[in-house]
Amino acid sequence: MTLVDQFQRRISYLRLSVTDRCDLRCAYCMPERQTFLPRSEVLSLEELHRLALGFIARGVTKLRLTGGEPLVRRDMIELVRALGRKLGDGLDELTLTTNGTRLTEFAVDLFAAGVRRVNVSLDTLDRATFARLARRDSLPQVLEGIAAARAAGLKVKLNTVALKDTNAAEIPALIEWAHGQGLELTLIEVMPLGEVEEDRFDQHLPLSAVRAALEARWTLTPSEHRTGGPARYFDIAETGGRIGLITPLTNNFCEGCNRVRVTATGQLYPCLGGGERVDLRAALRSADPAAALAEALDVAMKIKPLRHHFRIDARGEAPALPRHMSMTGG
Ligand code: SAM
Ligand code: SF4
Repeated sequence: MTLVDQFQRRISYLRLSVTDRCDLRCAYCMPERQTFLPRSEVLSLEELHRLALGFIARGVTKLRLTGGEPLVRRDMIELVRALGRKLGDGLDELTLTTNGTRLTEFAVDLFAAGVRRVNVSLDTLDRATFARLARRDSLPQVLEGIAAARAAGLKVKLNTVALKDTNAAEIPALIEWAHGQGLELTLIEVMPLGEVEEDRFDQHLPLSAVRAALEARWTLTPSEHRTGGPARYFDIAETGGRIGLITPLTNNFCEGCNRVRVTATGQLYPCLGGGERVDLRAALRSADPAAALAEALDVAMKIKPLRHHFRIDARGEAPALPRHMSMTGG
């Protein structure tokens, strides 16, 4: 039986976090001194594989591996290879969200395993800004990684979090750079997930303002392009490329939601912006894992909420949710 929630939304897309660890410390994502989970709590490679197969058996056709940084998990490529064997046999697409620092090492192997597209997060092209934002001086590695991915045949899409004081002024230059290389870029609003050092209010830049600024400079035409995700797309006449806008705070994108997320500890979150949760690790480690997993997925379909309730209305507000994006898997 396919996965259909209480609002008749068919769930065909799983974002699976394979680790909460990361080699960067993006200021909007996690604090500098992030405490990572003990390894014993994280699902083994074999458990991640079984879990993914369980979802594919229930009609999930698109699988995105994420984290933390998926490519910092040792043996990660083994999982990609194992899941790649399901392509054409239940799975239509296997993809990855990465910060790009290790793409030079893994791009060829990813392509060989059946991955055809990767999302790479890139918030700035300025080395000093990158080093300040990610708290690591890794921009050259990331740019080399993007080049290596393209050389290996992977389609690269860029994700950029719009940040009030950090990259607001640079967004047009980033778009020009991306489009100059034939890369699509999607802008994302910062979401109040977990405590970080800065106040979310000071980071949040509404994309309505970004769009207005871009429209003052260029001709933006709403595009019919859809991916089944929350982004809305615009063609830019002057750059000849397309941008996506993901606006969780200023716009609600939930009615067409087709996805769920599973953390590296096997916690299924049916909504990125909600506290609802089902423990799949307990199911996997039970006496009858197949039956327990099927039952847990049925529960998840019953509790997936209609919409999230993110807000960043004022300075000093507590985060909407205690968990970081690196935990839930972006
Ligand atoms: N490490 C990988 C990366 O950076 O692409 C994958 C995991 S990361 C958590 C996934 C995406 O979430 C990235 O594009 C990142 O910019 C975004 N992200 C992290 N924290 C966020 C937040 N609080 N609000 C909005 N996006 C966030
Ligand atoms: Fe790491 Fe990605 Fe979070 Fe940055 S956004 S700290 S790269 S998990």
